[in-house]
Amino acid sequence: MGIVRGHTLLADAVASSVDEHARFGGVVPEVASRAHLEAMVPTMQRALDTAGVTLADIDAIAVTAGPGLAGALLVGVAAAKGYAIAADKPLYGVNHLAAHVAVDTLEHGPLPAPAVALLVSGGHSSLLLVDDLANGVTPLGNTIDDAAGEAFDKVARLLGLPFPGGPPIDRAAREGDPASISFPRGLTGPRDLERHRFDFSFSGLKTAVARWVEARQRAGEPVPVNDVAASFQEAVCDVLAVKAVDACRTHGVDTLVIGGGVAANSRLRAVAEERAAKHGIRVRVPRPKLCTDNGAMVAALGSHLVAAGVRPSALDLPADSAMPLTVVSG
Ligand code: ATP
Ligand code: FE
Repeated sequence: MGIVRGHTLLADAVASSVDEHARFGGVVPEVASRAHLEAMVPTMQRALDTAGVTLADIDAIAVTAGPGLAGALLVGVAAAKGYAIAADKPLYGVNHLAAHVAVDTLEHGPLPAPAVALLVSGGHSSLLLVDDLANGVTPLGNTIDDAAGEAFDKVARLLGLPFPGGPPIDRAAREGDPASISFPRGLTGPRDLERHRFDFSFSGLKTAVARWVEARQRAGEPVPVNDVAASFQEAVCDVLAVKAVDACRTHGVDTLVIGGGVAANSRLRAVAEERAAKHGIRVRVPRPKLCTDNGAMVAALGSHLVAAGVRPSALDLPADSAMPLTVVSG
């Protein structure tokens, strides 16, 4: 639950059910929606208290309308409608993925147009051309199999690291050698680049890591977790940075914004900056806490839509678990 004024963040109260999900090694939809429901009212109160405002001071209410888990979306949309009706405020049902991009405005101000966005999260890995977020985004490429975050989570599991896998791999990798194992860079060969220049593939990488680890275990040798983590992470970050910079150069864009949970990765931030700087491209990444799911990102996008004069959503706004990336508000 986030509260913003213009591009200024006033409160970001996050109620996470990650500890419960960790017990199951992944997100359980039923657990997610129940936790969501229980946390709703206290989290809203916490956000209002932190911002030092009341519901009456709020100008508009934004909520994630999709994409995502239907149960959790329904809880959020129903609660937002309740608040909007009770306080007589306009309601904005927004796209969770566009919000992952919009959140950077809270840190670095309005996005220059056009910009390229690299969206890397638990369920998505895309390159987008963004002119004005209020007018939607143009997808340049997507993952053709696993998302980057999903690959982190699966490889972590393989290495016996906890869920979600991004943070522990990030930490383990700092103690490892990224050049110790040569893992594949998906869709970077000359033939692949013809058809999939801005697309990603992480499933082959995940399998390569699994095979490598299995071979070690079969041979009765210890698995060098830190080296595997560092080499895997390097492969992911390398591909993401190369393709993002290529997208910027191809479209004559000098700003790359990175969003989504994987944008919290310390190595991705460093590699992207290093590669982009060589071509005079500026990289914008919000602080790690704003990369993973939070309410501030939804408020940031809502605030932008209000300022852009976008019409509010109808009060019968549906939750759309399959909301397309190109639809910014419902
Ligand atoms: P989506 O936004 O696609 O619907 P989501 O909301 O579940 O998916 P996010 O919260 O945006 O996903 O991101 C969570 C993902 O980010 C997880 O897969 C997690 O492992 C990954 N992640 C978080 N921190 C890091 C990190 N430091 N390094 C790499 N990955 C990370
Ligand atoms: Fe997300």
